[in-house]
Amino acid sequence: MRLDDIDPSGDIQDMGAGGGGGFSMGGGGGGLGSLLIGILPLLLSGRKMGCGTIAILAVAAFFIFGGGMSFLTGPGVAPTEQAQTAGGSANCDTPEELLACRVFTSTEQTWSQIFSEAGVRYQPAKIRFYQGGGQSGCGAAQSAMGPFYCPTDKGIYLDTSFFAQMQQMSGGGDFAYAYVVAHEMGHHIQNITGIADKVRDRQARVSEADGNQLQVRMELQADCYAGVWAAKNSQRMEAGDVEEGMRAANSIGDDKLMKQAGRAPVESMFTHGTSEQRMAALQQGLKTGDASQCNFFRGIF
Ligand SMILES: [Zn+2]
Repeated sequence: MRLDDIDPSGDIQDMGAGGGGGFSMGGGGGGLGSLLIGILPLLLSGRKMGCGTIAILAVAAFFIFGGGMSFLTGPGVAPTEQAQTAGGSANCDTPEELLACRVFTSTEQTWSQIFSEAGVRYQPAKIRFYQGGGQSGCGAAQSAMGPFYCPTDKGIYLDTSFFAQMQQMSGGGDFAYAYVVAHEMGHHIQNITGIADKVRDRQARVSEADGNQLQVRMELQADCYAGVWAAKNSQRMEAGDVEEGMRAANSIGDDKLMKQAGRAPVESMFTHGTSEQRMAALQQGLKTGDASQCNFFRGIF
């Protein structure tokens, strides 16, 4: 993907290696750290890395952090926008961060365009880089969680070492990494359109299996939104990009991750969709370039 003419802009910050040795949580109470240490191996034993762990950890984090985190339940109060100026020096100082910064900037441009065409005000996201561990508006950020989006502070949290893991899992490539950032931006879109709140409300009222199924739809929609962004920037796409994205989507399907962990895939535990579904969702966005074609909640809301 050709992105080198894009000057990173927006709310970008490198938080550095705030968490130290991985499990220590800057600012977290003593109890939180030990709770997470107890729960992480459990979670990670099933799903080694990547986006796949995010939802599960979010559930765990919800129980740990209680009402402080509105990712899964709660009144869905949108946090007031902070006047972000201080400390927001743009640090896109590694090749990986620079790529993520450019994708972030491009996705914001694309989505604010889509919103303005629809006559809706776009609310900007932010991106926070960290190494190892750090703090997010949703509690501790941990590299092992993979990239995630925190609706409370509208932040995408990314340790770019995840890209190296992706390279091992699926071959990587710039579009594969772009897909990750664009997928998280997809969750931001779900947050500001209110779909995330609706899903959360519904999840609080249904069984775990049904809640997971709703989560799958969320994730597939985020994949589709990533494809929409790419389609809207098709002039930037290069030969091999779509294949890179497909390989990445294929490598992070729930069925694949469970098999890799030596377990039989159990559909009721899926939270992100199968490899097939994820590839299809990304493809759908790529093919149509139309966010309204990413309605994975038809017949539900
Ligand atoms: Zn996701």
